[in-house]
Amino acid sequence: MLYIVATPIGNLRDISLRALQVLKDADMVAAEDTRHTGLLLKAYGLKKPLVRYFAHNEERQSQRILEALLEGKTVALVSDAGTPGISDPGARLIRRVIQAGIKLTVIPGPVAGITALVASGLDTDVFAFGGFFPRNTKERKVWLERLGTFKGTLVFYESPKRLSETLGYLYKVWGDRYCCVARELTKRFETFIRGRLTEVAEELGKMETIKGEIVVVMEGCPDPHAQGYSPEEAEELGRALLAGGMYKKEASLKLAKITGIPAKACYAMLVKQKP
Ligand code: SAM
Repeated sequence: MLYIVATPIGNLRDISLRALQVLKDADMVAAEDTRHTGLLLKAYGLKKPLVRYFAHNEERQSQRILEALLEGKTVALVSDAGTPGISDPGARLIRRVIQAGIKLTVIPGPVAGITALVASGLDTDVFAFGGFFPRNTKERKVWLERLGTFKGTLVFYESPKRLSETLGYLYKVWGDRYCCVARELTKRFETFIRGRLTEVAEELGKMETIKGEIVVVMEGCPDPHAQGYSPEEAEELGRALLAGGMYKKEASLKLAKITGIPAKACYAMLVKQKP
């Protein structure tokens, strides 16, 4: 049996009694970083054989783990923080275990994205998780296409170093959406910065350096009928799209999608803008 075990995202006490029992009983613990997990186990007075399981050795190690499982051993899969498989290696192993007909179960616990979503105050009925904001231009385009018109709340991970640049970029492409930057969740310096992108940027600008782990929660694509964009607001958004590097035709289609104003009218509005 494979046990997928969630571990704390900061505060060591955020571990369930069941997770501790499973870790205690497991024949083997598959961990992303054995040193990191070794410290976690030590904190709970546990000592276990650890096998390293990370993105670059997934193929070889998942074979080893499958063999152990087929021999009837109990394996606990953990990641450095939170729930394995959520922006962490593990998802592929889980698929292979299912394909091999081996039983698995999840010991639920912390997920940084869900923790931030709840604290953001944004809509929790319908939301999408975007993983890490893509660094590569091509992947970023696909990400923006998939999520740009999504009306529910968006949750994604970003590094502190790239946060300001990413929020600035999203402002240019999507306009001044409301968002919440959740930093160092469950830790001593837990912080939430809530507001429109321009307001959050201002707050971030006051900080000497942005440190720690970050989750961004952002309102989805505004519903044009509920929002009722005025021509001035639409024009401002159009200018932001052009400033983000879009061509007028592409920007007018995007503007039409966001505001509900017909694409032709959007185009006419954008041609009036200076090149
Ligand atoms: N599996 C984890 C989960 O369940 O959330 C996510 C692992 S992913 C490799 C690590 C990223 O999660 C970090 O770069 C950060 O964006 C986010 N994260 C993890 N712990 C966090 C925390 N305490 N506060 C804010 N973000 C956190």
